[in-house]
Amino acid sequence: MAFDYDLFVIGAGSGGVRAARIAAQYGAKVAIAEEYRVGGTCVIRGCVPKKLFHYAAQYAEHFEEAKGYGWAGQENAQFSWEKLIAAKDREIARLNGLYIKGLQNAGVEICETRAELTGPHDIRLVAEERTVTAANILIATGATPFVPHNIPGAAYAITSNEAFHLKSLPASIAIIGGGYIALEFASIFNGLGVDTHVLYRGPQILRGFDDELRDVLAEELAAKGVTIHTRADVDRIERCGPERGGYIVHTRKGEELAVAEVMYATGRMPNTFDLGLDRAGVELGGNDAIKVDDYNRTSVGHIFAVGDVTDRGVQLTPFAIREGHALAERLFGGKDTPPVSTENIATAVFTSPELGAVGLTEQQARERPGDIDVHAARFRPMKHTLSGSAEKVFYKLIVERKTNKVVGAHLIAPEAGELIQLMGVLMQAGATKAHFDATLAVHPTAAEELVLMKTPRP
Ligand code: NDP
Repeated sequence: MAFDYDLFVIGAGSGGVRAARIAAQYGAKVAIAEEYRVGGTCVIRGCVPKKLFHYAAQYAEHFEEAKGYGWAGQENAQFSWEKLIAAKDREIARLNGLYIKGLQNAGVEICETRAELTGPHDIRLVAEERTVTAANILIATGATPFVPHNIPGAAYAITSNEAFHLKSLPASIAIIGGGYIALEFASIFNGLGVDTHVLYRGPQILRGFDDELRDVLAEELAAKGVTIHTRADVDRIERCGPERGGYIVHTRKGEELAVAEVMYATGRMPNTFDLGLDRAGVELGGNDAIKVDDYNRTSVGHIFAVGDVTDRGVQLTPFAIREGHALAERLFGGKDTPPVSTENIATAVFTSPELGAVGLTEQQARERPGDIDVHAARFRPMKHTLSGSAEKVFYKLIVERKTNKVVGAHLIAPEAGELIQLMGVLMQAGATKAHFDATLAVHPTAAEELVLMKTPRP
């Protein structure tokens, strides 16, 4: 049977675009459908604009710290949210254009429409009112912010989607959640002068990260002015008069918080709704994520899924990109590319200060057989001897005693996102503590402490 395409990709985000481009470069006939904007969450309303906001927010403290180095006059610095939004939008438009060009240059047909499956090989292009067929189909529709609908008044809240387009900065905000997005936006809003509250349901933010790292980050964020309310389960959100802010968030403990804006950052749900997956026989797992094997194959042999829409449990752009790339190599490049590993993924939370982590937490390492050594340091970096900032750097390495291998690295530091990228390489290379010890310090840096921590904690 002849199909219209060798590969049809639904969703032009990080994973879908990469798969489409590489498949086309191998000579496959490829089309990609996108209902919103080519680039997906990461480029359009995720990692990229978030990082630009993160940079913007940091200037406030840079100006403050500069006083200790003899600078003056920065008290008169003016911040314009409108200008930031406009500059961000221009950059996103540029990247969106680059993504489109990259696809076109590779020979991928772009369909600006929602696409839904109507059969195992059939795709309905909704806006174009036509149906096409493909030998292979890739679902790369990503995820969307999850807002618990059982909370009265939750509909008043914005999500990260809207946070990128606020008309003006609110005077105050309550951010519900204690994960990546809640904390990154908390640092952004706080840095830009918004009275910022994080409401997290558990005992400490960033569940799943190293416990000590969580404590240190919570302390640093609080010192910067973010108010973190733990064990704060939201009961309801009510409107109130502008004199009190606009909204009142009620917690189950009976607390009330009056704020000008409420934002939900409570995880992201796979975009599988109404995609016609049942008509094609594609099975869903928990959380309505598409069940895939390690090779990104769904329950239907010629239908694949990559990125946040799958049940692989890693909602990170570089992971989706790798999955998309590997899939295209396997399908059209004649390569036997192995599955993308979920081990040792380095990750950063772009708070202020930043957090970086890779490998095992101390708790995970202690649960495994065999002893570990923990090397840790928390200190005031040289820069802050004059800046007046109370911010401290925190480094922690987990070492498996038997092999001497560094099995976990956890950092809170300026540019921890940059540092953890290199830590990821070291972990991939199987670096031992002896490698760290044998490495000469780069002096004077804060990072030199990473090779100078000689004595494990008792
Ligand atoms: P996260 O999974 O990081 O955090 C979700 C938070 O919401 C957790 O604190 C969770 O609490 C809480 N939560 C979940 N459900 C509820 C509920 N019903 N009521 C109250 N609180 C709830 O998700 P995010 O939305 O922050 O981000 C989504 C994903 O996007 C991340 O997991 C990450 O993979 C990715 N991302 C990565 C970034 C980066 O690499 N820098 C930046 C932004 C996003 P609990 O822990 O108790 O379950």
